[in-house]
Amino acid sequence: AAGLYLVAVPIGSARDITLRALDILASADMLAAEDTRSLRRLMDIHGIALGDRPLLAYHDHSGQKIRARLMEAVAAGKSVAYASEAGTPLIADPGYDLARQMRDEGLEITSAPGPSAVITALSIAGLPTDRFLFAGFLPSAAGARKSALMDLRDTRATLVFYESPNRIATMLGDAAEVLGPERQGALCRELTKRFEEVRRGTLSELAAGCETDPPRGEIVLLVDRGDSENVSESDLETSLSAALERLSV
Ligand code: SAM
Repeated sequence: AAGLYLVAVPIGSARDITLRALDILASADMLAAEDTRSLRRLMDIHGIALGDRPLLAYHDHSGQKIRARLMEAVAAGKSVAYASEAGTPLIADPGYDLARQMRDEGLEITSAPGPSAVITALSIAGLPTDRFLFAGFLPSAAGARKSALMDLRDTRATLVFYESPNRIATMLGDAAEVLGPERQGALCRELTKRFEEVRRGTLSELAAGCETDPPRGEIVLLVDRGDSENVSESDLETSLSAALERLSV
C-alpha cells in the first residue's frame, strides 16, 4: 500500500531483521537509504533483488530535493521504504524531517520495527529499565557537553548515551565529574557482534578502565538514575559554591 515505510535494520548481526522488514524491502516501489551501499549489502545477504526499482540516498540534510521526490512518489500512490545505516531510523539517525513532512501532508507512515542500540543496551546492562532517558550523542565541545550533563544530573531515570570510541574517555571523565564519580554505569560495546562486551562499575571506575583498556567499536553508555543519597559531599560543595557565586553577582 502507498506510504512511507520506516524499516529498522540490524545494529550488528545481519540476521537481526524482521520478516516483515524483508517483505517491505522486497516489495516497495522505491527504496531510500542513508547509505545505499549498506542497504544493498543487507539485501544481498537476504537474497532480495533491487531489480529496476529506484534506490535513492537520503539523509535529512540531503535536503528538500530528494525529500520532495519521495513525497511525490507516496502522494502518487507508491510505497517507499526508508532505512538508515543501522538500527531504527530517526533514533540518532536521519528520517525525522522526512517523516514529519509526510505526516504534515497527511501521507501514510508505517514502522517496521526492529533493533535499536538503546533498547539492546538496556536489556543486558543490569540497570533499571522502568524509566529511562535517551540522551543520544552529547555535544562534542567541552562546555556544551558539561552543561548538557548538568541538565541531566537530577533526572530520576536511567540515562542512555551514544558515544564514539575516541570520545568515550573524555565523556566518562566529564560524566564522573558532573553526575558524580560513584554513580553506577554500564558501558555496552559492539552489541550483537562478535566482540560484544558490557563493562559495569562506577563512572570513575569506567573512566579509569578507558585509560587502561580503551574500548573500541560502537558504544552505548548507561548511567544509573540520579539519587540524592548518591550525591557526595564534594558534589554538594560544588553546587553550593556555584549557587553562591551566582548570588553574589
Ligand atoms: N539508529 C541507530 C539505533 O537505532 O540505535 C543508532 C545510529 S547512531 C548514528 C550510531 C550509534 O549508535 C553508535 O555510535 C553507537 O553509540 C550506537 N550503536 C549502534 N550500533 C551499536 C552496537 N552494535 N553496539 C553498541 N552501540 C551501537
